[in-house]
Amino acid sequence: MQNKQYKKLLEQMIAIKSVSTDPVYKPEIEKMVDWLTDLFSEKGFVVKVVRNYGNPIVAADYVVNKKLPTCLIYGHYDVQPANLEDGWSTQPFELSEKNDRLFGRGVVDNKGQVLIHINNVFELIKEKNLAFNVKFMIEGDEETGSSLMEKFVSDNKELLLSDFCLISDGEMNIECPVIEAGFRGGFNSTLTITTSKTDLHSGIYGGAVPSAAHELTRMVASLFNEDGSVAVPGFYDDVDEVDATLKTNNLTIPFDEKDYLSIAGVKRLTLDKGIEDVVTQTGLTPTIQVTGLQAGYMGEGYRNSIPGKAMAKINFRLVESQDNAKVLESVKRFITKVLPDYAEFTLQMENPFRGVKLDLKNDEVNRTKNLLETIYGRKCFFKFSGGGLPIVTLFSEILRIPCVLVPLANEDCRMHATDENYSLAYLEKAMKFSKKFLSGEET
Ligand SMILES: [Zn+2]
Repeated sequence: MQNKQYKKLLEQMIAIKSVSTDPVYKPEIEKMVDWLTDLFSEKGFVVKVVRNYGNPIVAADYVVNKKLPTCLIYGHYDVQPANLEDGWSTQPFELSEKNDRLFGRGVVDNKGQVLIHINNVFELIKEKNLAFNVKFMIEGDEETGSSLMEKFVSDNKELLLSDFCLISDGEMNIECPVIEAGFRGGFNSTLTITTSKTDLHSGIYGGAVPSAAHELTRMVASLFNEDGSVAVPGFYDDVDEVDATLKTNNLTIPFDEKDYLSIAGVKRLTLDKGIEDVVTQTGLTPTIQVTGLQAGYMGEGYRNSIPGKAMAKINFRLVESQDNAKVLESVKRFITKVLPDYAEFTLQMENPFRGVKLDLKNDEVNRTKNLLETIYGRKCFFKFSGGGLPIVTLFSEILRIPCVLVPLANEDCRMHATDENYSLAYLEKAMKFSKKFLSGEET
């Protein structure tokens, strides 16, 4: 690894176990916040640690010249848990280098990636070649869902005020540079169906009374058409059409079906009728996914009782043009109509967030595309992602600034898993991109 300064800082960051999913690590979170505060303060940034929105948010501001545009760089310092016993081949909280890769928890998600930009901003300040005023916003609750971020962004518009934002999180697409173009939104929900006050003896009552287990499974089945698309009337009403340009873009993104199937461990794809590629399916088409089912007794042996209550956890993944509340209403109407009168149900919405389609026709996105194509020597694609990144929705809707999303990690980086790693070849290119981007180069 060429860049000694980067590596030294990354080593220190990885050593701090800033795991946000377990309160045991609170002191490490504080250590991380102090580390970032010192780092930015030493370089002359105005640093503000914002509390009361979950784990502290570090905001660091550097003004080169008031006349220059301001670039907001978002990242997160929290990481997923990691233990050697999970099967890591190196100590997860010690940065190590082997086989031309750096290993450690957070090495790509997101410490390593946000540090690329931090390090380059520092270098460019020294070289007097930083083309923007820079604001860093580094949060510590990304891995737990950033649930208080909406409030934080609304309450701190002034602090975050900037002309555009840059985010590098996630991985590239089979060696091809990509700019992320949007994310699905949606919500979680629990469907509870009740058919009796208590569970009933299946011998004495079986056949004579309704079963919540039967009603729930019937209901779940009726939510879907044979091809897997959603059978609820009105569900697709507000879905934007995928136009020809987008269709072509999606179809030409390099995709290896065999690899995809093997990574997922599934036998074949189940695309909705009329959809030709996975990106259009997951990035631009809504879905309902049943993520958990519960009814009756599943312990040792058999209890032989008819469940009076059955539950399904249902995850809604909706596109930007859909409205969470409206979709929930259409599903409720459908269930009310289909469910027999001897059963009752409840369905409530939790953790809703809106999908987002990013503005791709702006100068910063164009410049990014050109830079990526020069550095990687390959065509850069716009990619819609099926997952959600609520912060991007918030920046677009509350701050109303364009967001440039450039994932810079290798596809086999194993984020969230054992042996999270950053390929040095990818890292070198990422460094180059970040430096050119931040120094305002056009190609
Ligand atoms: Zn993550």
